Amino acid sequence: MPGIWIYSEDSAIARQLLTAGLDLKKTMNQPIVVLTLSAEDSQALISAGADKVCIVKGTNPWPESYANAVAELLDKEAVNVLLVGGTMRGKDFAAKVAASLKAGLVTDALSVAYAGDAIETTRLVYGGVAVRTEAVALPALVTIPPRTFAEAADQGAGPGEVVSVEVANDDERVSVTNVCPIVRQGADIAAADRVVCVGRGLNKKEDLALVEALAAAVGAEIGCTRGISEDYHWLPNERYIGISGQKVKPELYIGMGISGQVQHVVGVRDSKIIVAIDTNEKAPFFEAADYGIVGDLYEVVPLLTKAMQK
Ligand SMILES: Cc1cc2nc3c(=O)[nH]c(=O)nc-3n(C[C@H](O)[C@H](O)[C@H](O)COP(=O)(O)OP(=O)(O)OC[C@H]3O[C@@H](n4cnc5c(N)ncnc54)[C@H](O)[C@@H]3O)c2cc1C
Repeated sequence: MPGIWIYSEDSAIARQLLTAGLDLKKTMNQPIVVLTLSAEDSQALISAGADKVCIVKGTNPWPESYANAVAELLDKEAVNVLLVGGTMRGKDFAAKVAASLKAGLVTDALSVAYAGDAIETTRLVYGGVAVRTEAVALPALVTIPPRTFAEAADQGAGPGEVVSVEVANDDERVSVTNVCPIVRQGADIAAADRVVCVGRGLNKKEDLALVEALAAAVGAEIGCTRGISEDYHWLPNERYIGISGQKVKPELYIGMGISGQVQHVVGVRDSKIIVAIDTNEKAPFFEAADYGIVGDLYEVVPLLTKAMQK
């Protein structure tokens, strides 16, 4: 079936892609097919607007091992667009499918639109200081970062169809001998509703207690700039935010002792409310902030914490 196809190994991300897909459907006037590896999600995907859910079944459990089989399926069905969830696995998968189909691929797209015989996408370039618009000829593959779109809402049971497709996805050249899950310290900041973030304005590791107290008072997760984790090793790497770290999209972000270099701001600019605290009134972060407090974090943060505890 030609149309707008969607794939993510993560069903929450697949529902986010459905939001983009439903928008494309308005102009392309083509059905939406969601590829999934898990039968469990199919009804939820239909309820959220998919016209068809295709459960792909193979013997190898690793999502990336499905790339060749999915490419064959897309070719056979003459698919126009494949939107892929831009996780590390998703990007790996999308690159393999695009190479197999000799199709164009845009990664990290922030928007997708139908433009006649192409899909027009936008994405950030030059470390986030510019937005580039690109047109990819059909069939087009596009990866979209997690949380770029909100999850498609449940519209109640639709008339959608669920099918299963058996595929051969064994690759004897690759075998998994061991799996070591990453041990996370604390919650996933990328999904946090509130984030308190600290930069190199902090003098020493022990002073993180100030940040922890504010985070506890507002119910926030703690993030940091790259130097705090990669250079000073005061917080784990999964806590740093920015172009090469995590992207956050909380309701409230409070940054302290952070100058606001573009590589950091790119990771926080989608926050609903940004509060910046810095001694330097000319710090670039104030331009990105909704509220700015010019002051010493060692004075301001305890006052803020006290006020939030009331
Ligand atoms: C390719 C590349 C990728 C990068 N990726 C990332 C990334 O993903 N994330 C990231 O964060 N960085 C990244 N960086 C680094 C980035 O360019 C900046 O160097 C970094 O974000 C600066 O961190 P900072 O704001 O904590 O430190 P600084 O720029 O040193 O700023 C410290 C701020 O603290 C203020 N200050 C000092 N004392 C106090 C006080 N007592 N109270 C209040 N304010 C005070 C100062 O006025 C200053 O504004 C990247 C760089 C490159 C080249």
